[in-house]
Amino acid sequence: MAAKRVIIVGGGNAALCAALSASEHGANVTVIEKATLEERGGNTFFTGGGFRFPYNGIEDIQDLIPDLSDAELNRIDVGNYSAKHMSDDLLRVSEGAADPDMVNRLVSDAFDTVKWMRDYGLVRWVLMYGRQAYEVDGILKFWGGMITEAVGAGEGLSDALYAAVERQGIDVKFGTKMTNLLTDYRGAVNGIRVKDASGISELSSDAVVLAAGGFQANVEMRTRYLGPGWEFAKIRGSRHNTGEVIRSALEIGAQPFGHWSSAHAVAWDLNAPPTGNRRIGDLYQKHSYPLGIVVNTNGDRFVDEGADMRNYTYAKYGREILKQPYGVAFQIFDQQTAARLRDEYRIKEVTKAEASTLEELADSLGIQPKNFVDTVNKYNEACQSGSYDPAVLDGLATVGITPPKSNWALPLSEPPFIGFAVTCGITFTFGGLRANAATGQVLDTEDLPITGLYAAGELLGGLFYHNYAGGTGLMAGSVFGRIAGRSAAK
Ligand SMILES: Cc1cc2nc3c(=O)[nH]c(=O)nc-3n(C[C@H](O)[C@H](O)[C@H](O)COP(=O)(O)OP(=O)(O)OC[C@H]3O[C@@H](n4cnc5c(N)ncnc54)[C@H](O)[C@@H]3O)c2cc1C
Repeated sequence: MAAKRVIIVGGGNAALCAALSASEHGANVTVIEKATLEERGGNTFFTGGGFRFPYNGIEDIQDLIPDLSDAELNRIDVGNYSAKHMSDDLLRVSEGAADPDMVNRLVSDAFDTVKWMRDYGLVRWVLMYGRQAYEVDGILKFWGGMITEAVGAGEGLSDALYAAVERQGIDVKFGTKMTNLLTDYRGAVNGIRVKDASGISELSSDAVVLAAGGFQANVEMRTRYLGPGWEFAKIRGSRHNTGEVIRSALEIGAQPFGHWSSAHAVAWDLNAPPTGNRRIGDLYQKHSYPLGIVVNTNGDRFVDEGADMRNYTYAKYGREILKQPYGVAFQIFDQQTAARLRDEYRIKEVTKAEASTLEELADSLGIQPKNFVDTVNKYNEACQSGSYDPAVLDGLATVGITPPKSNWALPLSEPPFIGFAVTCGITFTFGGLRANAATGQVLDTEDLPITGLYAAGELLGGLFYHNYAGGTGLMAGSVFGRIAGRSAAK
């Protein structure tokens, strides 16, 4: 039988996993990527490369990362993260709305898929020492269900996948944008229309896998679906994820799915550029707010900074920042926790002030000083004595203030005080297409599979509602990309 001709649309993690999987199963694969070679990698390039998967203790981690030294092993505590725990986390953060078929498939295939990426794509894994572990009593305690990253983070992951794609002899057409899906008289997908430097042309295929990301970089779609004010969000990653691929699938009858009016959005440096900067990558993010407090320009707190481990609150707090006056907030720390701030607080491109008094700090950052000092005094009085442990939910909560700080509530009492100005950075949108979780085949509005059409990655809806658990996006892209590629090849 002749090899199936499979077109993969997109050139990020989900697309390249689909391409490798389709090729592994005998297909003749072509990857179509809108960005040029110099801008390749999609949002994936900008990521921290963190992956969430269930594991049974250190044995599983050693299976994935065989070169951990004895010295490392003696200094770490990775705990364990069961499949049930991961399912519960995904359902909890989505307020019960995540599609159970997608959750079950993701959780059951995740560990096998990271091993496949290592073996097949030669992606190498390391523990996330800097970002997902706190030193407690001389031991590095990992927390929050996401403990490994690809070597070289997003750039390393993207490079490793492109190297594997090249080794497989898969053709990648950069600077080529899919504008439409083509269908035959039965409604089966039999190719795509593309636009490149030479104009518009058509490519025929036996199957198409869509993996072109969300619509976060399209201001019209962002405002239409997420609501007023989202024009002002900064784009954390690729400027190319503009939603036309999702739209073209909807045009041929694909079913919209997921939380269309919601998105993953975080605290992002106030002076970051409008779209991702490839040199800085994810370092404009400011994810250490559980170590301090967050206020707006009036000096008021507006979120519970300690509601949960950082991995389960950061993706919904960008939205809360956007609602504040001018869409601006300030993260405030003192010397008790300053040394624990993540790497991203130490870059030179940071909007930061330091002062020996709270009044001076407010003045430097542009916060209303009197109300700010009042807020901090009330917060300090609400802090209780008890034992502090940033690696677990320590229950060290404030009493009698709104919003509370439910964990890690240390008073701000050791100057100099430091503050960082942030705004809302959007990562990706939650609304997308519906696919069969077992096959990756896109479903139509009557729940029937569309012949010849598959999908994976951020353009799939159904997994993320309201919120997000750190490290799930890449993992889902790999699992569903691998599935879609395999099905498309058959
Ligand atoms: C700063 C940052 C940090 C992040 N860190 C993490 C992390 O550590 N862990 C994690 O799990 N997730 C992280 N994410 C989320 C991450 O974006 C996703 O999980 C993942 O990279 C998405 O992969 P994807 O393949 O679906 O999309 P992408 O990697 O965005 O790939 C989509 C591709 O489609 C191309 N494309 C778009 N339209 C067209 C078209 N019309 N024709 C052809 N090609 C097109 C784009 O150019 C792009 O290359 C982060 C995101 C950002 C922005």
